[in-house]
Amino acid sequence: MTALPAPPRPPRLLVVEDEQHLAAALKLNFELEGYAVDMAASARRAGECLLQAGGYDAIILDVMLPDTTGFELCKKLRDGGNFTPVLMLTALDSTEDRVTGLEVGADDYLVKPFELTELLARVRSLLRRRSWERQKPPTRGALAAEIRFGGASVDCERQEARMNGQEVKLTRLEFDLLRYFADHPGRVLSRQELQERVWKLANYPNTRMVDNFIMRLRRHFEPDPAMPAHFVSVRGSGYKFVPEGVAGLVADGAEPGD
Ligand code: CA
Repeated sequence: MTALPAPPRPPRLLVVEDEQHLAAALKLNFELEGYAVDMAASARRAGECLLQAGGYDAIILDVMLPDTTGFELCKKLRDGGNFTPVLMLTALDSTEDRVTGLEVGADDYLVKPFELTELLARVRSLLRRRSWERQKPPTRGALAAEIRFGGASVDCERQEARMNGQEVKLTRLEFDLLRYFADHPGRVLSRQELQERVWKLANYPNTRMVDNFIMRLRRHFEPDPAMPAHFVSVRGSGYKFVPEGVAGLVADGAEPGD
């Protein structure tokens, strides 16, 4: 007698949103998609959910909350070692807000007002990436188990990074991007390719997020982020990872709008 396999667990989402109507609409639509959804109308409530739930597959996080900002909450999570994928809902269509969100460790963002279909697609993309990671065998063919360049060493099995011996906390997406670069050293990678292969966003026109993440990798791993030696812009084409370093050859940062 063999026991039937347990039915697959529905992905669990935590939605942190204080606007009642929007919160209700989000809950309904996520549940229709088959997710198990917990709702929190404040950061305090979100904290309680996180303590009780034993882990979510993704967190949808509004920026403007009654007791704190989504930025603060996201930063706390990351500082505390929680790397659950976070999609931020930013109310203001300002670049500064989006960059802030990504800097505190969010994986993606949507600007309000947004189309529900786009939100659902983004969440699916976050979860897809996570399930691939879980299925990844411990070693995979030619993929390096350790990435070394400049003062950086990255243990791919443990997903731990160090720069000059100091631990660097990488978000899941920063790690994925770094790993993609490391698997393609010396090759020019277009923003579209990176977005498609790392973020799993095909045919998505706005590639500014890629530039933001390159800036983050540079801040983590370049001795002088303004003079990148390893994550190099290739004008009009994209980026190239140069493990051996080309310090001084490239003076520019990201080139938004290429
Ligand atoms: Ca709000």
